[in-house]
Amino acid sequence: MTFSPVLTFNDGNTIPQLGYGVWQVEDDVAEKVVVQAFEAGFRHIDTARIYGNEAGVGRAITRSGLLPEDIFITTKLWNADQGYESTLKAFEESMERLGLETLDLYLIHWMQPKQDKYVDTWKALIELQKQGRVKTIGVSNFTKEGLQRLIDETGVVPAINQIELHPFFNQAGLREFHASKGILTEAWSPLGQGGELLESAVIGQIAAKHNATPAQVVIAWHLAIGNVVIPKSVTEARIRENHAALDVSLDETVVQAINGLDNSAEGAGRIGADPAVSDFA
Ligand code: NAD
Repeated sequence: MTFSPVLTFNDGNTIPQLGYGVWQVEDDVAEKVVVQAFEAGFRHIDTARIYGNEAGVGRAITRSGLLPEDIFITTKLWNADQGYESTLKAFEESMERLGLETLDLYLIHWMQPKQDKYVDTWKALIELQKQGRVKTIGVSNFTKEGLQRLIDETGVVPAINQIELHPFFNQAGLREFHASKGILTEAWSPLGQGGELLESAVIGQIAAKHNATPAQVVIAWHLAIGNVVIPKSVTEARIRENHAALDVSLDETVVQAINGLDNSAEGAGRIGADPAVSDFA
């Protein structure tokens, strides 16, 4: 079986570049599909407090018989728990549900600019890392300005920023900023949530030429441009198909053709909320 290559964080730890995401998966279903993902070869799982399936992920880890050192687990602090003390408490509750002693990666889920508690929240993540409770700390849905503020006010550079990113919204500017600061880029909704993107003619033609599926081509593009990528599926055949994208390799011309699908110059492409202006309850 092929396993994902790893990328190295700015703190020296590593992350499998290809992972498996479980947003919108019920807790009992999560247990089943995460076991299937482990069987398909995934070793990196992306969950969050707000997904309501940390316990299901925890049961899948136990059922799989895999050792903690052989897997990589990410969870995220929900917006309502931002703030120093509340973050420390929410972290322990997530760990209880996951059934883990140490977490591989803890992320602030959204920046919440109006709430404006993300610097204090980041200080709590720094403390958790100091205590050895979490190996690596990072953020999700942060803008350049938000990242720069964390760096300026704490001196600790997030290891990763998990953001919406797919060929229709490829975030070239933010990726360049990340690279300049030593921050890894992680792509959420990497398949564009499975809609129009996978039906696009360009992706279809590339897939036919590579004897691959459209989803595999998109995942291979993420891997080629250096993203950490966490496609979701609850269908076992697709879970296997998505993992097998590791065997698809795209040359530079093909990568450039997919880069050309970005729609952001036209103000389009984004599926989810804009982190610069969104504050969720
Ligand atoms: P995705 O882009 O991974 O698309 C998933 C959908 O694509 C599936 O539901 C299915 O309809 C389709 N699909 C999957 N595999 C396929 C295949 N092989 N062939 C055809 N169709 C296929 O969308 P997502 O779930 O939004 O994103 C992936 C993960 O990213 C989430 O599960 C979650 O872990 C993470 N995420 C994080 C945030 C955040 O705010 N940090 C937001 C959204 C998602």
